[in-house]
Order: sequence, then structure tokens, then C-alpha cells
Amino acid sequence: MTKTCSNCKKPALTFIRYNGTHLCRDHFIKYFEKRVKKDIKKQGKTKNNSKIAVAISGGKDSVVALHLMHSIFEKRPDVTLFGITVDEGIKGYRDKSIKYAVENCKKLGIKHYTVSFKEIIGTTMDEVALKRDELGECSYCGVFRRICLNQKAKELGVNKLVTGHNLDDMAQSILMNFANGDMKKLARLGPHKKVQPGLVPRMLPLRTIPEKENALYAIVKNISFHDAECPYSTRALRGNFRDIVDDLEYQNPGTRHSILNSYDAIKDLLFDKYPPAELNKCKVCGEPTSQELCKACILKQRIS
Ligand code: SF4
Ligand code: ZN
Repeated sequence: MTKTCSNCKKPALTFIRYNGTHLCRDHFIKYFEKRVKKDIKKQGKTKNNSKIAVAISGGKDSVVALHLMHSIFEKRPDVTLFGITVDEGIKGYRDKSIKYAVENCKKLGIKHYTVSFKEIIGTTMDEVALKRDELGECSYCGVFRRICLNQKAKELGVNKLVTGHNLDDMAQSILMNFANGDMKKLARLGPHKKVQPGLVPRMLPLRTIPEKENALYAIVKNISFHDAECPYSTRALRGNFRDIVDDLEYQNPGTRHSILNSYDAIKDLLFDKYPPAELNKCKVCGEPTSQELCKACILKQRIS
């Protein structure tokens, strides 16, 4: 028998396992958007004349984040949105997803920029991969991407940089940093309320939304996105933590939320205990760093 929505009598579109509700299309959209708006408010007031950039890869999470930011801020003509795509130089993957980023920005009337590893870092991920370094491609990619986004966001005079990290990503990052004993990194996971000189603070509108709900939202709202896996993702350390979080969630629905809520409860304490280090300018590239050289420059030297 077809299940009906827990809020009305329409046929249900989906079952939300962690809270036991069946939702029709309209109630799913409401449920989804309500949580995003609530979390954006929690992440700090958007000041008048703000400039916000959305880091958009063309995948479902970033594209959904772009559409939500547009619908939330279209009633605020003083707020300007931009889209920034980082082209890491991954043939057959990123070149395809960029088209979706451009197309979605165009549709929403948002100015779009592409920055490439080749132009800012001087290499591509395909070239990095040829080195078969034991660190794995993602260690390079994450650090280089951060530099590219930060540089472009600063150039545009942006106050906040939006990323499409979802609940699954957050739970994985929290567990991974705990397991690695990297408390400093754990303390600095976004969203960032405090501004550090030279670093554009992050806003994470989808941090409480499970990945599958993002995909469903994109489908029911007819939002086009690039649906493919990066060829280097199989070597990512994060993969182990994805399996652990999926397994925990399967056995005990709601675990991802509990991990995030526990983190939120101790985040301020962590921040007090591990305050951000004084930042200087990297001797080579000028980006903010607590060392002499920034991490991107250290990694660049490693493969040169
Ligand atoms: Fe970069 Fe790794 Fe993501 Fe591929 S999976 S885009 S290499 S971080
Ligand atoms: Zn540097």
C-alpha cells in the first residue's frame, strides 16, 4: 500500500528514516528549506551590502547550495552573490562538471568565475597524480583548492564563502579529525564566526542535510547537476570514514546528527583551547600561514 505523507494525505515521496516521517513532495521541500534557513541564521547575520561567493563544482551539493542562496537572498538586493569554480585539471571529470556550474549560474543571473590549479598553483591534478605520491591526490587537491578559492574570494571582496558540505561530509570530517588526533583542525572546521585576517570565513548552509536528501531536493526541484565520481576518490582516506558513518547510520538512524550536535556542543570549548595561531604571510606566495611557508607551497616543493 502506498504510504501517505505524515503531514497531509498526499502520497509520500520519501521516508525520513532518522525521524520516522513520510513526506510528500511539498512537505519534503518545506522540511528541507526550513532547516537550511534555520542553520544559515545560526551561522551569523548577513550584514548589509554583503558579497557572498558560492564555491560551485557542478555536483549536486554545491548546485543545491547555489539555488538555495539565490532563493534566500533574492529579496535582499544589497547582497551580491558570485559563483566560483575551481578547475583542478582532472580530464573527463572536472571539464564536464564545470558546464553545470556555468549553466546554473547563468540561469539564476549569478556572475560566475573559474580559477584553475594550472594558473594559480602551476600544475594540474592529473600531473600530481602521475607522481603517485603516498599522500594521495586528495591531500594535494584540498590544500590547493583552498588557496584558489581564498584568493579569488579576496579578489572579489567577498565576506563569506559558501561551500556545499552536507551532513555526511561533516560527520566524516569530525570523526576523521578525532581519529587523527588533529584537534586544531577540528576546532577550525567551518562555519566560521570569527574572521581571521587574510582568510575568507566559510558558510555551510547544508551542514545539517543528509547527502541523499540533497540529491532528492535537486531532482524534485529540477536542478541540473553533474552526477559522477572523481577518478581519484578511490584513494581518499575519507572513504574509510564514509563507510564507518554509513554503517553507524544504518544501524542507528540519527547517528550523523548526533555526531554533528556533539561537535557543536563542544566547538566553543575547542576554539578557546586551540585558538587560531597568529598568521604571517607565506614567504613564497603571500597566503596566510602560521609557518614560514604555507601548506600549498610545502606540497608544491614535495612534487617539484
Ligand atoms: Fe580532488 Fe580528491 Fe575531490 Fe578528486 S576526490 S576532486 S582529487 S579532493
Ligand atoms: Zn605559500
